Amino acid sequence: MKCNEVIKHLNDFVLEELDQETEIQVNEHCAQCDTCQKALTERYAVADLLRGSERFEPPAHLYRRVKRNVYVPKKEKPVFWGIPRSFVYAVAMFSLGVAVMRAIDVYVMSIQPAAKIEARTEPLRLEQRSDTVEFYSVPAENLARI
Ligand SMILES: [Zn+2]
Repeated sequence: MKCNEVIKHLNDFVLEELDQETEIQVNEHCAQCDTCQKALTERYAVADLLRGSERFEPPAHLYRRVKRNVYVPKKEKPVFWGIPRSFVYAVAMFSLGVAVMRAIDVYVMSIQPAAKIEARTEPLRLEQRSDTVEFYSVPAENLARI
């Protein structure tokens, strides 16, 4: 570990908040490097001063001021014309998808000529065979009567 990396970790090292591996690396580096050892000693001195300082209770109005300044208003649900914004976006994306697909269809149909459909009629066979299954066709409007 280099000096600039060790310096970044010194505060956490003094407060014993480093993970074990980093703590070992910082410790080993400080044992060999005078500059970092001196910086570490200074951090320990500052930490000792802070630990020994007198604690005080802040006045109640200070809490109110802090709470007033920290208060974050509750977010309102974003709406468009009374409809939730996410629903409007979903409908818009669906419509966009339909429009894009329709545009692609129109483009593809303009490139490819429509497939030709050939209709043939075969003459009706009147001979009866025992292995023949007969199918009957009925006009659509008469289907309900069958
Ligand atoms: Zn160093």
